[in-house]
Amino acid sequence: MHKVQHFINGEFVDSLSNKTFETLNPSTNKVIGAIADGQAEDIDRAVKAARAAFDSGPWPRMNAEQRGKLLRRVADLIVKASDEVADREVQDVGIPVSQVKGGAIPRAAYNFNYFADMTYRLVGESYPVGDSFLNYSLRKPVGVAGLITPWNTPFMLSTWKAAPCLAFGNTCVLKPAEWSPLTADSLARIIAEADLPPGVFNVVHGFGETAGAPLVAHSGVNVISFTGETTTGQEIIRNGAATLKRYSMELGGKSPTIVFDDADLDRALDGAIFQVYSLNGERCTAGSRLLLQEGIYADFVGKLAERVASIKTGDPHDPATEVGPLIHPDHWDKLRGYMDIARGEGGDGAGGGDRPDGLEQGNFFAPTLITDVKPGMRIEQEEVFGPVLAVIPFKDEAEAIRIANGVKYGLAGYVWTRDGARGQRVAHALESGMVWINSHNVRDLRTPFGGSKQSGIGREGDHYSFELYTELKAVHIALGEHPIPKMGKG
Ligand code: NAD
Repeated sequence: MHKVQHFINGEFVDSLSNKTFETLNPSTNKVIGAIADGQAEDIDRAVKAARAAFDSGPWPRMNAEQRGKLLRRVADLIVKASDEVADREVQDVGIPVSQVKGGAIPRAAYNFNYFADMTYRLVGESYPVGDSFLNYSLRKPVGVAGLITPWNTPFMLSTWKAAPCLAFGNTCVLKPAEWSPLTADSLARIIAEADLPPGVFNVVHGFGETAGAPLVAHSGVNVISFTGETTTGQEIIRNGAATLKRYSMELGGKSPTIVFDDADLDRALDGAIFQVYSLNGERCTAGSRLLLQEGIYADFVGKLAERVASIKTGDPHDPATEVGPLIHPDHWDKLRGYMDIARGEGGDGAGGGDRPDGLEQGNFFAPTLITDVKPGMRIEQEEVFGPVLAVIPFKDEAEAIRIANGVKYGLAGYVWTRDGARGQRVAHALESGMVWINSHNVRDLRTPFGGSKQSGIGREGDHYSFELYTELKAVHIALGEHPIPKMGKG
């Protein structure tokens, strides 16, 4: 049993109320942890610690080298603790260990190393005005950030927020998702070991309504970086209005994978499968709609069905497992409900759609394929957030673009074609923040990450994170005696 406390001002502490909540192992739904259940008073305590660390502590006042060194130490400690962190993430979230160790944890360490280097790029510009002025801009940290994370890849996502936030001199309070608290505690332990000053990084566990909402409403918090559902993002913006917060919103998606008949179909098949079934399909950038050109539809679907039926689903601790259990029984019910909806709308269940044989415990859901989906069906429009692929035929480029753009989301898109010009035409026409041509989602941390439409507000990564976590200030210096209007002198 894990006993998880908050991390406030450099110390591990219980909730002031002493309340706890339970976290479950999604493979068994057995309780594996007692987690401090944070309320407004715990949030207040953490924000005050972060505020003091920002207003009078050393962190925002350190130079780039000093802060960068400490962040690199965090990265090294993540690597050192990777087996233990992976084990916790697999227990708590059910993502297959091969994907946690091979993807999420190295990326978490890389996030800290990458933004450690970015500390040197906190530079401004100068604006000479002849001999009369020299004006310049500089970037200052914003203050205290509230970082609110979802339960999918929680460890990686907490580092994706904390690394730039801290690198640019801010302090923060992380509120992890209530269904996946364990590895936020690992990050707190790593940061404590790295010896960051107290109050710079704080974690308060708890539920959205009782811990997340007070963090958003707190007048001591300047910026909210949120990743989660679109509807939650809307509520957060409403709740933060009274204290006029700055936001980054990384929200839901229903991203298309578009395969044209001239594509390298073997690679397109690999890419389309990985892009929706990896991370148990619980990924914001999942290519959850597969648009296939009519001439290749039947053959491609045949191969797809064979491959999907062979995806190894089971114990996420087994290195050979490709799909593990869904996060929670409520989420399982949601997916099962979508199967009835899809059938009711005329979608053809071409595999999966329920509990796989032989996996009676836990939240296992077989990798699922729904073919002959028509634009406008709910399974085509709504984010299911699981190992479910909706397949839609299209005639030509114009129709593919129309279908791809016909949803409220606009996070990612994947285009497969050997026609270079068409690949780029389609990429430019897609209403999404990010597109990959002839590739699954291979991240380059220098490029802007984020969504358009209802998939988000703002971009993060590299210098794009300056917009969120720094205040751009202009300083104007008069070099000589420029004319000043003499009001009141007649
Ligand atoms: P969620 O919106 O239910 O919860 C996310 C976080 O918000 C949790 O920590 C939760 O406790 C908190 N929360 C809930 N209500 C709140 C409130 N009123 N005030 C403050 N905080 C509140 O999302 P989820 O189910 O945990 O995660 C899945 C969603 O996240 C999917 O929609 C997915 O697409 C999205 N996501 C997006 C990205 C991206 O980069 N765009 C990345 C990962 C996940």
